[in-house]
Amino acid sequence: LKISPFLEPGKATKVGSLAILQLSRDNLQPVYLQAPAGKHDGYAEGAVVNTRYGSFPHSTMIGVPWGSQIRASKVDTGSRGRNNKRKRNKSDDDRNEGSATVTEEKTEQESTTAEVNDDSSAATKKVVADVSGFIHILPPTPEVWTSSLPHRTQVVYTPDYSYVLHRIRARPGSVLIEAGAGSGSFTHASVRAVYNGYPTEGERKGKVYSFEFHEQRFHKMNKELKEHNLDSLVHLTHRDVYNGGFLINGKSPEAEAIFLDLPAPWEALHHLSRRNPKNPEDKDWVSPLNPKKSAHICTFSPCIEQVTKTVSAMRRLGWVDIDMVEIANRKYHTSRERVGLNLSMDRGVNNSARDVDEALSRLTDIETRFREHAAKSKESDDEMDGDEDDGLIKRCEKKEQKGRKKKVKTDHKPASAGSVETPASGVPLWMEGRLITRGEPEIKTHTSYLVFATLPREWTDEDEATAAARHPVTG
Ligand code: SAM
Repeated sequence: LKISPFLEPGKATKVGSLAILQLSRDNLQPVYLQAPAGKHDGYAEGAVVNTRYGSFPHSTMIGVPWGSQIRASKVDTGSRGRNNKRKRNKSDDDRNEGSATVTEEKTEQESTTAEVNDDSSAATKKVVADVSGFIHILPPTPEVWTSSLPHRTQVVYTPDYSYVLHRIRARPGSVLIEAGAGSGSFTHASVRAVYNGYPTEGERKGKVYSFEFHEQRFHKMNKELKEHNLDSLVHLTHRDVYNGGFLINGKSPEAEAIFLDLPAPWEALHHLSRRNPKNPEDKDWVSPLNPKKSAHICTFSPCIEQVTKTVSAMRRLGWVDIDMVEIANRKYHTSRERVGLNLSMDRGVNNSARDVDEALSRLTDIETRFREHAAKSKESDDEMDGDEDDGLIKRCEKKEQKGRKKKVKTDHKPASAGSVETPASGVPLWMEGRLITRGEPEIKTHTSYLVFATLPREWTDEDEATAAARHPVTG
């Protein structure tokens, strides 16, 4: 049985691996690594990924530990800025010798301009010609897949699905129903949550039963599940669940966790009962729920009107503990900013040596003045001269204090009074700038309202007798 790279990616990349290339924080690109032997796409390097940060032959990304930094090939494949195939000539062959290097050393993005990490198109145009950048190669996980997957529909994002999976109690060994499958973002997260790590089919229990009524999406998703070796853990069915319900060949999947990302979840709820809602005495009616466990459901709806309808259907059908949650996720960007200097180190940009020297000498100057000032203040309480640099010193002092306070908060490690923290680089931390944390100006992640509810298990006389035998009440 093949193990999915989403569940156990191994330590290093290999030929055929699904790798997620991280070009910048939010720019991720999935790629299947192709064998370096042979000449793919007409290039001597084999297959090459061309990005605004440079060209990355697959050969340089195979056999490296996940998480490695990959430097752009020094070779001009001639394909940057063009997607077309190109005929090779003698000079290409010469340049292709000893092409790209792989390094795990964490260097900063090499570029002639500071804007290389900037996603703006102007910056992109500027650097494309002479960039020699890097990317990181990441193993596939549901999180990076969500950020890089081919969108066929709106998808559920990580902040939502992590909370949903927790609330519906998806855990190793759980059986989960999902509809509709859409682009498979939630599917990938849920299958990891229920995977119980047993390598053989017989021992495995955790499973996702996924439903999708759009034919093309169903086929694409089926293909993807096979490519990701998840087809033994996800059973995908092409069906309209409003009419067809959730049974598999007439049998119950015995689910205990349910996630409905459908336009009208209330229309599917009557199938998720323990008894036929129209005739509770109907002995032939099969419930898709596990009779021995309570069922936990979440429905995902963008409009409050959908929530109202869902909640009222849930009440009618005996669901309890109904509540609604909206996830308002905000990203914070934390960086160290140099005092009065434009070093932009936090943006991963390597400035020229001249800039760094200048910066350091300026900072040394500030530090000297700062210390002189501190010494003077100790000797006398005299007012400082009001020249321009003194103002700067005061500001530095304040910033440093503020920076320290923030650092203490961030690292949960109080600095001893009056000490100068010195990181491995030998440069006192305050000289590296103060810590700046910025939240996104607006919250972009409202996707939907999440309605949660529980359908308790039924408790029969037989269950009571079993429980009493197991836990006898003694005297
Ligand atoms: N949760 C998915 C994800 O994270 O990628 C996205 C789901 S998408 C918003 C909703 C999906 O539900 C669509 O693909 C749609 O075709 C499917 N759908 C809508 N009505 C359905 C029904 N009655 N039965 C099954 N699937 C349905």
